[in-house]
Amino acid sequence: MTKTLDTLKLDTFQNEPDTDFSIDSEVMALKEAISSFKKELGKDYPVIIGGEKIYTEDKLTSINPGKKEEIVGYVSKVDREMAEKAIQTATETFASWKGVPAEKRAKYLFKAADLMRQRRHEFSAVLILEAGKNYVEADAEVSEAIDFMEYYGRSMIQLEEDTHYVKSIPGEKNRLTYIPLGVGFIVPPWNFPLAICVGLTVSAVVTGNTTLLKPASVTPVIAYKFVELMEEVGLPAGVINFIPGDSSVMGDFITGHPLTRFISFTGSKDVGLHINELAGKTAKGQKWIKRVNAEMGGKDGIVIDETADLEAAAKSIVSSAFSFQGQKCSAGSRAIIVESVYDELVEKVVQLTKELTIGNGEENHFIGPVIDQKAYNTILKYIEIGKQEAKLVLGGDTGSDEGYYIHPTIFIDADPNCTIMQEEIFGPVLAIAKAKDWEEAIDIYNNTDYGLTGGFFSTDEARIEQAIERMYCGNLYINRNVTGALVGVHPFGGFNLSGTDSKAGSYDYLKLFSQGKLHTQKI
Ligand code: NAP
Ligand code: MG
Repeated sequence: MTKTLDTLKLDTFQNEPDTDFSIDSEVMALKEAISSFKKELGKDYPVIIGGEKIYTEDKLTSINPGKKEEIVGYVSKVDREMAEKAIQTATETFASWKGVPAEKRAKYLFKAADLMRQRRHEFSAVLILEAGKNYVEADAEVSEAIDFMEYYGRSMIQLEEDTHYVKSIPGEKNRLTYIPLGVGFIVPPWNFPLAICVGLTVSAVVTGNTTLLKPASVTPVIAYKFVELMEEVGLPAGVINFIPGDSSVMGDFITGHPLTRFISFTGSKDVGLHINELAGKTAKGQKWIKRVNAEMGGKDGIVIDETADLEAAAKSIVSSAFSFQGQKCSAGSRAIIVESVYDELVEKVVQLTKELTIGNGEENHFIGPVIDQKAYNTILKYIEIGKQEAKLVLGGDTGSDEGYYIHPTIFIDADPNCTIMQEEIFGPVLAIAKAKDWEEAIDIYNNTDYGLTGGFFSTDEARIEQAIERMYCGNLYINRNVTGALVGVHPFGGFNLSGTDSKAGSYDYLKLFSQGKLHTQKI
């Protein structure tokens, strides 16, 4: 369908519907896409700088976390020299790309969204084999990636129009425009290796910046597939430079480089703080203050009072804690329950969790593998700590060693200050704490260094009002799951050490990659 400008207004944006897997033909189509991607396993993927595809000796090995023996692909890595070349290329390309009209820039995104929509199962297949997602998780991620392209494309068109809204006074014509910043270093995490990679990259590109995209090292193949898609829609060479590699070798090099103008990072707290600190140092020859958007971890939680619908609360606790094995920044890894309904609700949560099946994404189990050996070891270490600090009531052990499987694990009677209530575990581990009443429960919720997502279950309107006022987080959800933010519907980003609250999926977001230029003309 060709899109006229009218159909590209921001208020006409619609979230991409997920696939309905109750339809047999959809399941078949996804299975076929998986079979066909399996024929590509073990392929070599290049670095791309200025459109040039470069194969190097030194490569990342991407494996299927659900079947450790299965190699998804080998991806070439850049060294410092190549990273330097990429920065120079992005800087040169910026000179022309910034002059491309906004609508034309946006149209690359719309075209890519159309193609991704047509091939959504192909993208899901890669997510299933490379990241260990099940069908629903992979499919929802593809929808989110499409949404980011449709939404930011439209936001850019709107942002251009909004330049007319500055007030002009007699004798003076005023106009505020948003112009791009320059070269952006794009650093996505592995847990949404398509959606976040797409969101961070296209928001920068559509606003007229050029980029150096460094995919997470465990999920570089899906990032490559996105870059390939952007090539296919004719995005000029050098606008996205694909530079996989060791963070230690080139991460700090690029962050610290005088030609890097901004860094768009999503990942852990420690890495985000490190990048922020490094970017704060002014390099020799640097002409600006680098901008850092860092979206980091969470220790999210759900508060449940005695008036709540306990069936609904139990379902939300389980799905928020264990979907994608708890490997979401929004994962509800804490549940804080008032004492009068504590035993009843804990029982429901444990029962529901027992029903979850575990196995690889290809076989579409609710619980799949965790991402890699390092995550596996870290999560098991936290489980050991949990056993000392609280009462283990479910799980705590590993599954088949064909992949990195850990059973969904529940600890109860956790002290609010203990490690498993404070630190982000990023795995299938839920800590449950008891509170005297709903107010104490909110205090326990707020007692973390983070502030990303929070949930409140109650039927008492006055308490809901209070929860909205008191719970300190970027995304607060009442009587529903704390995961599953939709682009344009639930702008996403956290407080405190969860990040800079650069609300992804909001209209405001694009301004983070632009600078406002006012022109005042005497008439
Ligand atoms: P991570 O270890 O911090 O890595 C994130 C990205 O940073 C990866 O691409 C990583 O590359 C790169 N990196 C590491 N050190 C770097 C350096 N010195 N310079 C430049 N880049 C560097 O996080 P992760 O394990 O991938 O992701 C999980 C974390 O992300 C969790 O804490 C989760 O809460 C958070 N997250 C937050 C949000 C949000 O919106 N707030 C969303 C999703 C995830 P390598 O892979 O090569 O190490
Ligand atoms: Mg992998």
